[in-house]
This record gives sequence, structure tokens and C-alpha cells, in this order.
Amino acid sequence: MCIGFIGLGNMGFPMATRLLQAGHRVVVFDVSAETTRRAVALGAEAALSPRNVADRAETVLASLPSEQAALDVATMSDGVIEGERVRRFLDMSTIGARTAQQISTLLAERGIAALDCPVSGGVAGARAGSLAIMVSGPPGEFAVAEPVLDLLGRTIFVGAQPGAAQTMKLVNNLMAATTLAATAEVMVTGVKAGLDPAVMIEVLNAGSGATHASRDKFPRAVLPRTFDFGFATGLMVKDVRLYLQEALALGTPAELASAVAGLWEKTLDDQGAESDFTTIVKTIEASTDVIVDGRTDR
Ligand code: NAD
Repeated sequence: MCIGFIGLGNMGFPMATRLLQAGHRVVVFDVSAETTRRAVALGAEAALSPRNVADRAETVLASLPSEQAALDVATMSDGVIEGERVRRFLDMSTIGARTAQQISTLLAERGIAALDCPVSGGVAGARAGSLAIMVSGPPGEFAVAEPVLDLLGRTIFVGAQPGAAQTMKLVNNLMAATTLAATAEVMVTGVKAGLDPAVMIEVLNAGSGATHASRDKFPRAVLPRTFDFGFATGLMVKDVRLYLQEALALGTPAELASAVAGLWEKTLDDQGAESDFTTIVKTIEASTDVIVDGRTDR
């Protein structure tokens, strides 16, 4: 089967690689020529534009960094919307329900189905094919696309309503943003009080304070001070902002989300959009004289 893939970043590249390894023809496009070259070296075919991808593949996947990039790729001039062969567009990006609905409406006018397929599980999950993939859109199209998605992770159908999976993804990421921020804050407090950070993480993980942040993010990227988990602070802030927009539009309480958002905005200012999101701990450390350092050779 020929599959299109647009956006070969931290997530898109390993996902496209898995499709190639499964024996599919994969036609790719990324604004970065270097990234495209790396994919071609693995057997992908380079396209000249999103439209050119959609001229060649019935099923086109995308993993893009912003709402604007997703809108441009899907619906603008030289976008997927102008492709001759494409039947369905599967957007794995996190872009919020409203943008997903906009894309769905515009593509439907050209007879192209849109499936929202935001993912959770990070770069490690993308490499291992163990992502959690939330899907919303026409159930018949989901049935056609499911074998492709199954190569990338475990799919959970959220509902037929366009954007539903995006709302689910934002709920998930607000939880991830909150638990990472909370873990960073308590770790700084514990270290300031004289506790050993590695012992703290061991205890949290044995007790009721365990979260994905304590189980995975701290051991892998904070205690060793590598800050290389693979998710950019700019993307985390994008997701927190999108969550707040949805809560505001729905009129639901967001006191906790607002406090968490403040800390993430500060991290964006201090560490920069390209920094790894685990650097939130550095922003909290900055107002103290402690470092959460779990290296044994320090
Ligand atoms: P990234 O910035 O590493 O990759 C984005 C890629 O898209 C880059 O290669 C960039 O060159 C390309 N791109 C940008 N604009 C483009 C355009 N107009 N046309 C074609 N290519 C374009 O981002 P990422 O970390 O891979 O994340 C991608 C999406 O997945 C985001 O929406 C993010 O929120 C979501 N996500 C990321 C993770 C993660 O752990 N990194 C986890 C879950 C979801």
C-alpha cells in the first residue's frame, strides 16, 4: 500500500520509518530538505509538496508542530486538499478540536475524509510502535485506516464527532503537564530539605505519588541532567494553551490549569521553545540554590 507522510520530526520520522519497515511504499514531505533526505535514505520517496503527496497516496498521515502548519498542509494552496488520489487525511498532530473541525469541514467539501489521530507515548512510543492513538471521524474511514494505525500503536476510537480525539488528547496532555510540573516542584523542595533525588524518585514510584513524570521522565532525562526526553517546551505550552482555550469555550473551571499554565509560560520564557520540556525543573531550581541531580558520579 502507498501511504503519504507529511512532517518528519521527532514523532513523524520514527512513525514513517515503521511504515517502511512494514513493507509499505511511503511518500514523504517535510519543509526540511535534510530530514527528507534521511527518510529517502531509508527507502521513502520524496514528494515536492503536500499536494504532491496527496497526488500519489490514498491515505495521507501528518505530524505537524502547530495548528497553522496543519491548516496549511491540509487545506491551503498546494495542500492535501488539491491532491488527486487522496481519500483520507489522518492528522496525528495535536491541534485542538476547533482546527480539526475546520480541516474536516474544508476537506469534506472535496470528498476527502478527515480522521483526527492525536497520539500519546512520546518519541519512545513512536519508535516502538506503542503509541496510544486517539481517533475521531467517520467510523467507516477508521475501519479502512485501522491496519495502518495498528503499525504505530494501540488505537482507541473516541467518537464520530470531528475534534473529539483532539479534546481527549488535550485532556491527557494537561494531566501530563500538571504531573511533570508538580513532580518538578516537590523534587526541588525535597532536595532543598536535604533529601537525595534518586531516593525521592524511588520512594515516589513505590508509593501513591507515582506518575509518568516520576516513573519515566525524571529517571530518563532529569536525574541524569540530560534533558533529552524528546518533547519541546514550545509544544507543551501549545497544548496547555489549547486546553485553556477549550475550557474557556466550554465554561468549565480551570483554576488548576491556569496555575500550571503560568509555570509552563515561565519555562518557555526561561528555557526557550526548543528546549526539552523536562527543563521545567531548571526554571523551578532557578529561584533556589539547589539542583535536582541524581548522577552517582557528581
Ligand atoms: P517536531 O517539531 O519535531 O516535528 C515537526 C516536523 O514538521 C518538522 O520536521 C518540521 O520540519 C515539519 N514541518 C513544519 N511545518 C511543516 C509544513 N508546513 N510542511 C511540512 N512539514 C512541516 O514536532 P514533534 O515533536 O514531532 O511533534 C509533532 C506533533 O506531534 C505536534 O503536534 C506535537 O504536539 C505532537 N506530539 C508530540 C509528541 C512528542 O513527544 N514529541 C508526543 C505526542 C504528540
